[in-house]
Amino acid sequence: MHSGEICGRDFATGRPLRVTWAGGVITDVYDDDTESCNWLAPTLLNGYGGVDFQRNDQLTEAHLLSAARQLRRDGCGRFFFTLITDDWQKLMARVRVTRALRDAHPELRAAMAGWHIEGPFLSPEVGFKGAHNPAVMRDATAADLHELRAVTGRDPVLLTLAPERVGSLEIIRLATSLGIVVSLGHTNASADTIRAAVAAGARGFTHLGNGIPQQLDRHDNILWRVFDTPGIMPSLIPDTHHVSPLLFRHMHRALPAERIYYTTDAMSAAGAPPGRYTIGSIELEVGTDQIVRQPGKPNFAGSALRPVDGIKGAAEMLGKKWQEVWPHFSLRPAELMGLRNTIAPGEPADFCIVQQDDAGRLVEARMPASAA
Ligand SMILES: [Zn+2]
Repeated sequence: MHSGEICGRDFATGRPLRVTWAGGVITDVYDDDTESCNWLAPTLLNGYGGVDFQRNDQLTEAHLLSAARQLRRDGCGRFFFTLITDDWQKLMARVRVTRALRDAHPELRAAMAGWHIEGPFLSPEVGFKGAHNPAVMRDATAADLHELRAVTGRDPVLLTLAPERVGSLEIIRLATSLGIVVSLGHTNASADTIRAAVAAGARGFTHLGNGIPQQLDRHDNILWRVFDTPGIMPSLIPDTHHVSPLLFRHMHRALPAERIYYTTDAMSAAGAPPGRYTIGSIELEVGTDQIVRQPGKPNFAGSALRPVDGIKGAAEMLGKKWQEVWPHFSLRPAELMGLRNTIAPGEPADFCIVQQDDAGRLVEARMPASAA
């Protein structure tokens, strides 16, 4: 259904609203006192990759539509197609193929907001490399960035890199001038290098608290360095496992709220049942706890978390209402990537209709199309 209307309370103010839409676009938003148990909130926005995405020599429109619809069913109306460390030419070829599929389908054009390229310009150090293959990691060149910009056109692009790699500051400056948002990650850069990277234009830090060793120096480690760097915007995986509830709470005390956003990590099909999968050349296993691991290894290699479950996890860990943490998974990532994400006339009708229980806990989030 591409048109309809719904009443609900604005998630931020509690104000009762009526929203109408047609042709997938919001046509009107106005005050309406009709009794409703719905809440209305901007769409969740997530990075999303997975088995079929990384191995996408056979990637089809059907794969992408199935991913987009699965995300949409759970309140995530837009996602960043995510690819991790691989041979650069292979990565660029995958983006090219995927972008052509996206451009050919209106539903995919609405859902696929941009691209997240995580690697191969990362730290190969044990503990920092995570599940990425160090054999294909390398320093970035200016030609790489121009190619990335060319294959993605004017789309929003997030590039995760480790700033201790040779030539990174110039790469960050060039990326920024090309409109590519640089996020630091899988890095063991010094405090000075991280500050220099931010001064050069780096803005994010990818899944802070993960892509780091189990044991850290108590005086100086990547967490302390990020906490001590003004202006950097980390993403956190709010599944209660990737970042322990203790550390999660400390992160929210150490960083201003407007500088934290959430992600579920790039790896697997969210909601994928427990089992073994192959991502690129990596064997992975989804556990009953929705965590992705490399078989036989204790490290986390990603999560199968749905964004809406991340909202529940964050609210629970912080002892806050879902309405208070919702911006971290909707407005904040949109700000980082320069996207609008508001419920207003002329905007896409991809907002969330949220149900809560009598205790005010989030039960489910859906989108207008599935509600109509
Ligand atoms: Zn990662």
